Amino acid sequence: MNTNVIIIGAGAAGLMCAIALGKRGRSVIILDHASKIGQKILVSGGGRCNFTNLNIQAENYLSANPHFCKSALARFAPSDFIAMVKKHRISHQEKENGCIFCNGSSRQIVDMLRDECNSVGVKMHLNCKIEEITRKNRFIVKTNSGVIESESLVVATGGLSYPNLGATDIGHRVASQFGLRIIPPKPALVPLTFSRSDREKFCELRGILLEAVVNCRGHEFRGEMLFTHKGLSGPAILQASSYWENSEEIIINLLPGIDARSIFLSNRQSKMEIKNLLSRYLPRRFAHIWCEFYLLSRPLCQYNDKELLDASRLLNGWIIKPAGTEGYRTAEVTRGGVDTDELSSKTMKAKKVTGLYFIGEVIDVTGHLGGYNLHWAWASGWTAGQYA
Ligand SMILES: Cc1cc2nc3c(=O)[nH]c(=O)nc-3n(C[C@H](O)[C@H](O)[C@H](O)COP(=O)(O)OP(=O)(O)OC[C@H]3O[C@@H](n4cnc5c(N)ncnc54)[C@H](O)[C@@H]3O)c2cc1C
Repeated sequence: MNTNVIIIGAGAAGLMCAIALGKRGRSVIILDHASKIGQKILVSGGGRCNFTNLNIQAENYLSANPHFCKSALARFAPSDFIAMVKKHRISHQEKENGCIFCNGSSRQIVDMLRDECNSVGVKMHLNCKIEEITRKNRFIVKTNSGVIESESLVVATGGLSYPNLGATDIGHRVASQFGLRIIPPKPALVPLTFSRSDREKFCELRGILLEAVVNCRGHEFRGEMLFTHKGLSGPAILQASSYWENSEEIIINLLPGIDARSIFLSNRQSKMEIKNLLSRYLPRRFAHIWCEFYLLSRPLCQYNDKELLDASRLLNGWIIKPAGTEGYRTAEVTRGGVDTDELSSKTMKAKKVTGLYFIGEVIDVTGHLGGYNLHWAWASGWTAGQYA
């Protein structure tokens, strides 16, 4: 069987690329080992798909080359995806920080992509196991259901997170096979785990949710933080986790926007116990347990200046050394991947292999939480679709 372009991966990037190619009149076959398309889109945004963000900028992405994503993001803006969503009459709304969600279900986005693919004649081979990929003048892809040849091959196989949704390392293996470098992959947007001793110490905090500013290597994120039975989660922690390296500390401001020292000083003579004062600003259970660990709660008037200064420093800069992350099983994305130096930022094509393209999460471009990862998949897929 012959086609102009084979795309491996019927996820966000692969489907968008297929639509762009089909609109150009290219014949396209998408291969996927899963039985359904767009599985990660379906679970995204808690089932409501946070499909883009109005504030997209290169600064919202991690990559060894922070400039690489700029060209594709300029070429396919949030308004371009929103226009497609509007054309399909999918109700959506902006939530906080520019995040755009479906009002209904993520399923509507998958159906939209499927309809768009069908309208331009894209063929899909699902349950398709890739056995071998070779290249002579053309790409030859051997699968369990036959051999397909193409002029161009687009690898859109995503990252390693959520293996239960079909993630594999095939994209990295194909890149290595053709001599492209890989930036070592790591779980990102992932809960952090406590060391054994911290887990024992903080197990009573499990289930507590509070607003915090989490700082990891100078990158600060304000948002909710959740104590889990293993460690810390919640949006502020997930964002920070993308920057976290093994055995590093994170610094947590438990009272964002509040100077703990000034609240202590203004209650300096008070007979109120410190845990009760802190309960005005923090969840009561947290304030009480946390004070037991660190401050041995007593009336405020019984602390000396140094003790109050130390306590305020701790509240505005609690230092935790996570033992690790929860890994790919719960990581929303994978950072690292195909080195962007190996690809043209204008076309997504491998510089040294004619006709070979990489798009989406398989590339070393990782977005913050908030619709940035799906938008990268759309933008890079659309861009490659103009050239493959
Ligand atoms: C729980 C969860 C929630 C998320 N929520 C959001 C959100 O709200 N907003 C946001 O922007 N991002 C979100 N993300 C991230 C986002 O879903 C991904 O970044 C995005 O889907 C990546 O698109 P992709 O096309 O590169 O890869 P994928 O969507 O992962 O697609 C890769 C495709 O390749 C196929 N494949 C893999 N290996 C093989 C193989 N060996 N042979 C054949 N086919 C193969 C897979 O079956 C899959 O269909 C979420 C991720 C998760 C896990």
